[in-house]
Amino acid sequence: MNGRTYAIGAIAEQIPRCSGVDYIKEPIAEVYGCHVFSEKVMQERLPRKTFEAYRKTIRESSPLDLSLADVIANAMKDWALELGATHYTHWFQPMTGLTAEKHDAFVDPAPNGLALSEFSGKMLIKGEPDASSFPSGGLRSTFEARGYTAWDPTSPAFIMENPNGSTLYIPTAFCSYTGEALDRKTPLLRSIEAISKQALRILRLFGTNDTSYVRTTVGPEQEYFLIDKNFYLRRPDLINAGRTLYGTKPPKGQELADHYFGAIRPRVLSYMMDCEKRLYKLGIPVKTRHNEVSPAQFEIAPLFEAANVATDHNMLVMEVLRETAEDHGMVCLLHEKPYSGVNGSGKHNNWSMCDSEGRNLLEPGDTPQENAQFLVFLAAVLKAVHEGAVLLRIGVCGAGNDHRLGAHEAPPAILSVFLGSQLTEVVENIIAGRTKTGNHGGVMQIGVSVLPPLPRDTTDRNRTSPFAFTGNKFEFRAVGSSHSISPANIAINTCVADALDEIATRLEKEVEGGKDLNEAVQELLQDTFKAHQDIIFNGDNYNKDWPIEAEKRGLPNLKNTVDALERFTEEKNVQTFEKHGILSRREIEARQAILYENYNLAVSIEAQICAEMGRTMILPAAMAYQKKVADILMSVKAALGDKADVSAQIKILDTLTRNVSELKRSLTELDKTRTEADNAGEDLHDQAKLYRDSVLPLMKRCRDAATELENYVEDEMWPLPKYREMLFIY
Ligand code: ADP
Ligand code: MG
Repeated sequence: MNGRTYAIGAIAEQIPRCSGVDYIKEPIAEVYGCHVFSEKVMQERLPRKTFEAYRKTIRESSPLDLSLADVIANAMKDWALELGATHYTHWFQPMTGLTAEKHDAFVDPAPNGLALSEFSGKMLIKGEPDASSFPSGGLRSTFEARGYTAWDPTSPAFIMENPNGSTLYIPTAFCSYTGEALDRKTPLLRSIEAISKQALRILRLFGTNDTSYVRTTVGPEQEYFLIDKNFYLRRPDLINAGRTLYGTKPPKGQELADHYFGAIRPRVLSYMMDCEKRLYKLGIPVKTRHNEVSPAQFEIAPLFEAANVATDHNMLVMEVLRETAEDHGMVCLLHEKPYSGVNGSGKHNNWSMCDSEGRNLLEPGDTPQENAQFLVFLAAVLKAVHEGAVLLRIGVCGAGNDHRLGAHEAPPAILSVFLGSQLTEVVENIIAGRTKTGNHGGVMQIGVSVLPPLPRDTTDRNRTSPFAFTGNKFEFRAVGSSHSISPANIAINTCVADALDEIATRLEKEVEGGKDLNEAVQELLQDTFKAHQDIIFNGDNYNKDWPIEAEKRGLPNLKNTVDALERFTEEKNVQTFEKHGILSRREIEARQAILYENYNLAVSIEAQICAEMGRTMILPAAMAYQKKVADILMSVKAALGDKADVSAQIKILDTLTRNVSELKRSLTELDKTRTEADNAGEDLHDQAKLYRDSVLPLMKRCRDAATELENYVEDEMWPLPKYREMLFIY
């Protein structure tokens, strides 16, 4: 029996895993947040004065006083010990795109047993993980390698359970000795502050003085694939590269749309419920679960939260999805394109701004005043996406996402904004200086006339748009499923902060100069919408005419990571980041270098595994079958003589032989080209171009030859689990 057949047998024996939890006796409401050192827990455990001082610090995002930190650290430790924690860790998000942790015990081994060790405010606030092997893009050399972690009090500490013990996790930022960001949290926090500062200026202009800050809110919808572990372990490409490098498209894919929103299989549902239970304990408000478009593809979505917390929580969601799958005999694939020929996975990053009183700034209001303000924020977002299209594109780049963006799959690599017909009409009317009723009527007075009502639920949907307005928020759909949402939100926040800054400066000046606010807003909106209407596109983003039209409009079409990354260090981008204190030139250059390295490494690893699988799995199987057919051919001829019709055997043998040669040739070339790229010298961009233009096409050639072989080689002899199995048997 070959491995595949064995795997299928093993999968047939699987039964949904039961947690043994009695949900009546142990209702979910009671476990929600039970592992979070939340404000509620702090309020209960901290002296009132400390708690109030802490809250004030958070609200004003001022540095935390060390005496406060000591008290908080103590309370945090007691709480964690009560919940069985034995260790604590500063948890951070280095540029690997993953999370990192180094655990320290709460106890010290002492001569007469274990002694409870100190956990001071200092230890809470600052750590020195000496994590010198993380990518820094040259921001530090290993001889001065100290990297520091600094507590982020805006994201709550939490406890992670393991069957053998629990650990206290403290969310932190990760910086170099000189304070340069080495992670994905630091610039996100900076961008959140930048947007708050600029948005407040607009709110003040409109006479809102009761707000102390504006925060960005984010709700990321996470897509993923599940595969049974028995198949997974027989696919070295999935194990090493996260995606299949070989495989014939299944006869039945997603065309029937029978999976999307379909009934969830019990085994998967039990997995989902297990994930949710673990996430609830961590206080992560997951809300929605469903089958996605591709077979074996699913989605989990939380309620939105403050951008920083949402980012941390999404990292945890990905981790819990992966870990829980193991317990259910499955593997969760977060790669953007695990299977070629069926839909890949992304992350819809729902984004908005909300003031300290809980008012959503992208909610069209009921009064003329509210609507004028809404339109100003809307104009800022349009301006931001138009002017920052390149930065937004860079915020979602990566080798995996290249297989979605710009590769005949939603959304395209061209950034545009979907507003829907009603809102677009409003924008057009403002540009043309018309009222809603069109030509007969006066000029539409913003701040005097009321917007046409925009009922949230009737906003038309456009699933192909990369940046869609969905009633009271924008949905950025280009984020990759495996990505941290941080870079995307850093880009959005920075660009919107920049647009708001320019808008606020203009309005402030005009109002100070004695102009009526409504009049100033009216002109501003007309100018801004006119200047940026080219970014609005309500049509079908898959349409082959769109790239042509987009080019006419001057919208960038950065089809892949290499094209996008090159533009990171353009003067305009550096200035925007520096102006708002989000990233310095050095930090941008470092990030660019790291992203190139990530790309280059990803393709190099794929190419190596592709070559090895070709040589050691596919060619041997194909040649074994080749021999079998040749033997049959000989014996038929021997039995029946020259008159025997062996045309079928000859045709099969010919196809096999052609593709075996083609595969062998391509593999040899792939090895050679990949080695050249690996040793291509200093310039990371040139090296990335080699991987993109030479290595990836050769991998495709190997794959094509192997696909032909898969279509011919006797099923029993084929060593790799097939698409029609991996995507349907689970
Ligand atoms: P959809 O129709 O796109 O599924 P939903 O209302 O279900 O829309 O929301 C999708 C995601 O958007 C959820 O995570 C939700 O919490 C989030 N979301 C809703 N409002 C906001 C907002 N104001 N800011 C950020 N995210 C939001
Ligand atoms: Mg959505």
